[in-house]
Amino acid sequence: MFETVLVFKSPAYVVLVLLAMAFAVATLFFTGEIYGAPILLVTRVVITALLGTFGLISMIIAIYYSGELVWRDRDRKMHEIVDASSTPDWTFLVPKTLALALVLISTLLIGVIAGMATQTIKGHTDYELGKYLVWYVIPGAVNMTGIAVLAIFVQALSPNKFIGWAIMVIYLISTIVLSNLGFDHPLYQYGQGVGGPPSDMNGRGDFAGFAAWFDAYWGAFGVILLVLAYALWRRGTENRLWPRLKRLPHRLAGPAGLIGGVALVVFAGLGVFIYMNTNVWNEYRTQAQQEAEQAAYEKALLRYETTPQPSVVDVRLVMDLRPHQPKLTTRGTYVLVNNTNAPLPEVHLRWTGDLEMVSLTVQGATVAREWEDFEYRIYRFGTPMQPGERRTVTFASVLEQRGFKASGNTTRLVDNGTFVNNMEFAPMVGMDRQGLLTDRTKRRKLGLPAELRPAKLEDESARDRNYIGADWVTADITISTEADQTVIAPGRMVSDVVNGDRRTSRFVTESPVLNFFSVQSARYERTARTHNGVEMVVFHDAAHGRNVPRMLDALSASLDYFQANFSPYQFRQARIVEFPYGAFAQSYPNTFAWAEGLGFIADLSDPTKVDYVTYVGAHEFAHQWWAHQVVGSNQQGMTVLSETLAQYSALMVMEKMYGQEQIRRFLKQELDRYLRSRGTERLEEMPLMRVENQQYIHYQKGGLVMYLLRDQIGEDAVNRALRRVLAQYAFKGAPYPRSLDLIAAIRAEAPADKQALITDLFEKITLYDVKTTGVTATRRADGRWDVSVTVDARKLYADGEGVETAAPLNEVFDVGIFTAEPGKGAFGEDDVVLLERRPIRSGVQTLRFITTREPRFAGVDPYNKWIDRDSNDNVRAVGQG
Ligand SMILES: [Zn+2]
Repeated sequence: MFETVLVFKSPAYVVLVLLAMAFAVATLFFTGEIYGAPILLVTRVVITALLGTFGLISMIIAIYYSGELVWRDRDRKMHEIVDASSTPDWTFLVPKTLALALVLISTLLIGVIAGMATQTIKGHTDYELGKYLVWYVIPGAVNMTGIAVLAIFVQALSPNKFIGWAIMVIYLISTIVLSNLGFDHPLYQYGQGVGGPPSDMNGRGDFAGFAAWFDAYWGAFGVILLVLAYALWRRGTENRLWPRLKRLPHRLAGPAGLIGGVALVVFAGLGVFIYMNTNVWNEYRTQAQQEAEQAAYEKALLRYETTPQPSVVDVRLVMDLRPHQPKLTTRGTYVLVNNTNAPLPEVHLRWTGDLEMVSLTVQGATVAREWEDFEYRIYRFGTPMQPGERRTVTFASVLEQRGFKASGNTTRLVDNGTFVNNMEFAPMVGMDRQGLLTDRTKRRKLGLPAELRPAKLEDESARDRNYIGADWVTADITISTEADQTVIAPGRMVSDVVNGDRRTSRFVTESPVLNFFSVQSARYERTARTHNGVEMVVFHDAAHGRNVPRMLDALSASLDYFQANFSPYQFRQARIVEFPYGAFAQSYPNTFAWAEGLGFIADLSDPTKVDYVTYVGAHEFAHQWWAHQVVGSNQQGMTVLSETLAQYSALMVMEKMYGQEQIRRFLKQELDRYLRSRGTERLEEMPLMRVENQQYIHYQKGGLVMYLLRDQIGEDAVNRALRRVLAQYAFKGAPYPRSLDLIAAIRAEAPADKQALITDLFEKITLYDVKTTGVTATRRADGRWDVSVTVDARKLYADGEGVETAAPLNEVFDVGIFTAEPGKGAFGEDDVVLLERRPIRSGVQTLRFITTREPRFAGVDPYNKWIDRDSNDNVRAVGQG
């Protein structure tokens, strides 16, 4: 303890710890913010952030104090007295190691204090001390003790403190460099193991068990290091290693050797067991091997991408989920139809590498060719499938993880919160681009074309498939799970039977759905309401009820708007189903998988923050129309009909709830994000019409474009255009609609003077730059105010590389006069003195108004509806400039 106290008293320790604490609090304070709205700082989030913050500081402390502790006596010239005494070497070694471990563990406790302090500041006082202990302090303490042992060992062997430090720094660097070079197996990464993120739903899941094996393995190795450190401990003035090595056999004869021997046996035994798990029961591949395989897969099979295939029209699945093993067994039947107008000689079936396909047969066909490494088979029909003809595919598969892997342990099949989709447990028809290598440098290095880009918008043949790669089907899914869990799959639940410790539920679709299903199972709390004849349910973790009423409100408001303006909802249920891990939501037929990290812990008590829970709920629900009724073709512009229209739909729902002034806060962030992202585009920025699945274009720019379009041609006109698209394409197979079909529908509903604007928004990359350069107001004799607003404006076209050319601007913009600044503080409707549309041309122009109230602020495009390169200079205070 004496040694520990010395460290705690040293100024360097205090400085390091204060630094770490300040850094942790600063990081934690804004952790998890989405659209500027905070989250409830639950302990899981704190721990995840702490794990990232404290690692390096702990390592620095370990390196520095291991040298100090081991060499302290020597530095003070006391060693000759100390070493001459008859005390055994253990009495130096063990206290020094313990002292260092305690110092390191103290950094964990300081992390906990920083975490709890930040939680308290943010008003979250449910500290969940058990999670701090079990998820953070205990695993951290084991890890820290390992670091202490290594650091002391290195110092015990090195001829002086500085070489010891240098070795530890080299070690620290090597841990980073080696894994980048592909040496990433946990068997030889000191103190490492396999882990996984913590989850409120699933706790540490099976990861705690996996980690324990590695803790025991490295613990045994640590004992070996300690025994060696003891045996090589320097006494007297001997600093050289060689004479000490010569003494080694002598020193190891006795208890020390025995302890070391036992540790060695344990270490070797556990090493074999770990190797069995990571390399025998599971496949181990380095990053480089994986990439080489991806490249080989692409070279062998991408040529089949456009080979005509029959369509799946009916899916029957019987599934057995064992969440605690974890294991999912599936038996299934597909009905295939030849929807092309030529005979089909073959059908191609593929599945993912983690899936074991136990049996797979195609009616009237035999395997003509198989790529075993790529899980890809070509079946040839005895007699080719004629147009309109049906065949069945029957399969049985097992998805499971035996033991643990070196990396990428499943977060999909877990104790509480399984979430898998049919691409993970069932065969898929035909080849697509999923799982191909995308990084340009790696592609080039592996002999692939640098870019893998979608078919051009002009390519008619690309309309044979939709971009999701799923046909329209009817489905009948029966799943059994643990009796205390609820299982959800797309469709209406037609039966739900508990028999012993198993629950079996059956789901039948009541409308055509895309062959893209989710299966989720967990111990859920169920919160439900019925709205306009639709049963709305949130299946959530018992501790995550906070925003559930808001989610149900979002679903209700969305249903009302979408049914009134688009078309009837095709199901009688809408379900939000929570899952652990990740921070996204995904829309399946009548089912929205929603991560525990997204919105369930949002703190939306501040009404000036963006309510992104409603936004996500409305966006996902909108996909029931925009993806699950109308789905884009597999070519440029593919996601406009889904993501961009879901953004528009969500904006409309949000606007009805919160008003236009609030939408501005959201759109301003979307605009900033679009402008930032286009600056970092590595390939080529595309016009919205040709978006190549670039998120900043189909989400951020797409939302801005649709909202501005609505503003310019009116909500009725936009929604009439959307109804046209639905009437023409809903639930229809090939040829799938393109972005061009949406644009044509919009043009048909828009007046002649807006056609050029539609071209600018959808077909070109257009940037506006409007700026208010001066605002004056003078009181008139009649008590009213003469207001003049000077505006400087221009329009630019950008090409894919960002090169800009000026173009004449001739549009109608909002010009507003206000008593407070839009978007700031509690700005509301009452602050609007005047809001008018005025034509704006390129160059400087002065606009004149007469108002009854005294103006304080004025400007052009005050609500940031246009894609403006600088949206902060639109509004100015009166009298400025
Ligand atoms: Zn979406």
